Amino acid sequence: MIQEHLQSILKKLPSGVTLVAVSKFHPVSAIQEAYVAGQRVFAESRPQELSAKVPLLPKDIQWHFIGHLQTNKLKMVLPFVSLVQSVDSLHLLEAISAWAVANQRTVDVLLELHLGAEETKQGFTEEEILEIVGGENRVPGVRIRGLMGMATNTEDVRIIEQDFARIEALFHRIRAMGVPDFDQLSIGMSGDWPLAIRHGATMVRIGTVIFGPREY
Ligand SMILES: *Cc1c(COP(=O)(O)O)cnc(C)c1O
Repeated sequence: MIQEHLQSILKKLPSGVTLVAVSKFHPVSAIQEAYVAGQRVFAESRPQELSAKVPLLPKDIQWHFIGHLQTNKLKMVLPFVSLVQSVDSLHLLEAISAWAVANQRTVDVLLELHLGAEETKQGFTEEEILEIVGGENRVPGVRIRGLMGMATNTEDVRIIEQDFARIEALFHRIRAMGVPDFDQLSIGMSGDWPLAIRHGATMVRIGTVIFGPREY
């Protein structure tokens, strides 16, 4: 099942777009099944769950972190991930930078833009993001690779489209500023990823369509 779901997504995914399999709340056996089918990039949203799963799974998996990250949990996450997609505050960005410097590592991150969704206040405003990428505000040890966003949770395609258009415009504006290594736009989930592709996604984060419903 998982293999077929992956294949049907990959068939429709333009080359150059990374499929991030969101495995949160799903068992290690499900991740193994996706791995055997060839999937290598997975994302988790809770530090505890990530650090429990990592040692049980192959070493060549690239893990992304996509959940709210508290600064006292950095040690549980940063050693294991190739990308933190959900940097949503200056406080967190600076804490990641301090960890990176202390551990002589470079941490790749995306800045999360707060989109329309009322249910979450998570994420930066556009102004805050422009200030971070354009400012003198240096964050050593951190490479800002792009933007992440979650569209409003609605059936109304026009609203989702507006959200994606807004993050796409900001992404291109920052690209035009010549910010080095800024090349990733992570938008699109199970319900809206084809639309995200049309808005220039370079990464889609898909859970339910691959693994089925999550059991909370
Ligand atoms: C859970 C989650 C996803 C995946 O959601 P699905 O609708 O199951 O594809 C994507 N992005 C983030 C940030 C998530 O928390």
